[in-house]
Amino acid sequence: MSSIAANLDLVRQQIETACLNCGRDPQNVRLIAVSKKKPAAALAAAHAAGQKLFGESYVQEFRQKHEELELPLEWHFIGGLQSNKVKYLRDKTTLIHSVDRYSLAREISRQWGKINQTAAILLQFNLGGEATKSGADEAEALELAKQVSALPNLQVRGLMTLPPYCEDPEEVRPYFRRLRLLADRLRAVDLPNLTLEELSMGMSHDFRIAIEEGATLVRVGTAIFGARD
Ligand SMILES: *Cc1c(COP(=O)(O)O)cnc(C)c1O
Repeated sequence: MSSIAANLDLVRQQIETACLNCGRDPQNVRLIAVSKKKPAAALAAAHAAGQKLFGESYVQEFRQKHEELELPLEWHFIGGLQSNKVKYLRDKTTLIHSVDRYSLAREISRQWGKINQTAAILLQFNLGGEATKSGADEAEALELAKQVSALPNLQVRGLMTLPPYCEDPEEVRPYFRRLRLLADRLRAVDLPNLTLEELSMGMSHDFRIAIEEGATLVRVGTAIFGARD
């Protein structure tokens, strides 16, 4: 068995254990294999081990792999996104996790409108207030949700966050919890095109905690593919 296959097995087991420990159904947590900076061959190995859902962070790199890999893969875009690159994702990704401003949502709406389809997106929040990370401010959440929910060809399926890195994953728990509570608050407003059933949170070193706090999508790179350069 390749090390990628073995790593995937382990991560899947850990997801299942984390779910069972907190009384959740493992079916409700999807694993995204975050393959940024990894060659197409690594994705093919993961696919051979049963992984179909991949997350990419850079548009150019995504386009190359999408072109190169003739496999029935599902792609999520999870990285910082400039509006002028949205057109390259159209019809190729099933979920964009990183929508942190109205102008970006508007461009996604426009591009998916051209093909008469509805784009599924997540709103990304920067809960740690770190200048180096993208994500909207929690204080702007309601305003952003209202604006975005009025756009055509768009469905807001949930929220995403990338919390500050902490040695001890317990220290990130409050951020995961805040994202869940924020989703609860926004859902209660009852806006159109805003269903918020997804919480995208948790990476290699903290996905177990994220699952305990309600994650439905965990984004795991290093624990599957090894360290990146
Ligand atoms: C790189 C990346 C991940 C994966 O991080 P690992 O620590 O390698 O699991 C998850 N989410 C986002 C947004 C990323 O950019």
